[in-house]
Amino acid sequence: MTKAIALIDGNNFYASCEKSLDASLINRPVVVLSNNDGCIIARSPEARNLGIPMGQPYFKVHHKLKELGVVVRSSNYALYGDMSQRLMKLIKENCEQIEIYSIDEAFVTLERPSHQDLRPWARQLRESINQSLGIPIAIGIGANKVQAKLANHLAKTIVINTGIFDLTITKDPDSWLENIAIEDVWGIGQKLARWCRIHGVNNARQLRDMPSNKLQSKYGIVGIRLQHELRGKSCLPLSIKPKNKKETCVSRSFGHPITNLEDLSQAIASHAVRAGEKLRQQKQLAGALTVFIRTSPFMPSFYSQSATRKLNNPTNDTTVLLKTALTLTKQIFQPSLHFIKAGVIMQQLQSTNYLQQDLLVSDTPNEQCQRDRLMNTIDKINNHYGNGTVSWAACGLNQQWGMRREQLSHASTTQITQIPIVNA
Ligand SMILES: [Mg+2]
Repeated sequence: MTKAIALIDGNNFYASCEKSLDASLINRPVVVLSNNDGCIIARSPEARNLGIPMGQPYFKVHHKLKELGVVVRSSNYALYGDMSQRLMKLIKENCEQIEIYSIDEAFVTLERPSHQDLRPWARQLRESINQSLGIPIAIGIGANKVQAKLANHLAKTIVINTGIFDLTITKDPDSWLENIAIEDVWGIGQKLARWCRIHGVNNARQLRDMPSNKLQSKYGIVGIRLQHELRGKSCLPLSIKPKNKKETCVSRSFGHPITNLEDLSQAIASHAVRAGEKLRQQKQLAGALTVFIRTSPFMPSFYSQSATRKLNNPTNDTTVLLKTALTLTKQIFQPSLHFIKAGVIMQQLQSTNYLQQDLLVSDTPNEQCQRDRLMNTIDKINNHYGNGTVSWAACGLNQQWGMRREQLSHASTTQITQIPIVNA
């Protein structure tokens, strides 16, 4: 039996998540905005058909969207993250191995059945995800990752394929590959695409058949691997284990510029609290911490500064992270400047399994154990009842500096108080 690789991908994921939980959005054009309601980052098919381009700043198209009756949503990452977890769980139940590639994309491995045709499997998975989550997906199947990615492109962009395409069993793969512009080939950036076009390579088929030495001289071993995969060999294995992170960063742009130390400290404190949660989720400890702040690069007297401190003992204890982050914030704060962004970076990360004890640390093992339990309890309460149920006073109660999210939908899948009400 032969192995196949499929790439499964949520269509217009953020817009689809918004639609799946709000029946009033069915058949209506929907767009989702980036942080601070900046630019359009996702469009439903109806919005795309109206000719609304991706990446447009919201303030520029605000009136046009209103005129066209387009529904606008601020990005709701609590919702998208939760929907992503549900999506990946369903995919995992229907394949052998899975590599979660992004919030809405996964590569999976499958055994090909004796009749070779995986389309019935794909149709069933598509239906079950649509029924359980209301998210339309596209499934591309091939002999390796590159072929699966290209097949996914063909599944999504060519209407007659209705969301499923298998490059391995198709009768005329060459003509399908000729349908894929060189710019749309996975791993080909803008610069390389320009070079390819100059050399008469305009589509995926021509890339597959071009002389290898020519491609290698420009793109090295990465180009050769890409070409081998186009020819049906496997060079890129699935990364099944999540890689241990070396750094974790939490940063945000503010809804309105911050000018005073109190608000800036609250913002940094909130980031440090979130970073602590992430470290504990990742089962990691930070050995050092950096705080950075900056003003707008488009305004006069641009200021950008950061400060780092090594922690006495690697930790993921929020009290220690907060104290350190706030001390560093005081060091780099400058009065009468308009800060628009700040963040914290957790560095020198290590696994919680190998904590090196420091002889000079004042906490006894018992005290450390109590603090671990406290953090664990806080995380559990916040996971169960929603983020911020238990918060730290340093984060402030009235966060004026928070992100602009004027069109935010409900956290319907993660907060019990916000589940939709159905009147029957
Ligand atoms: Mg997608």
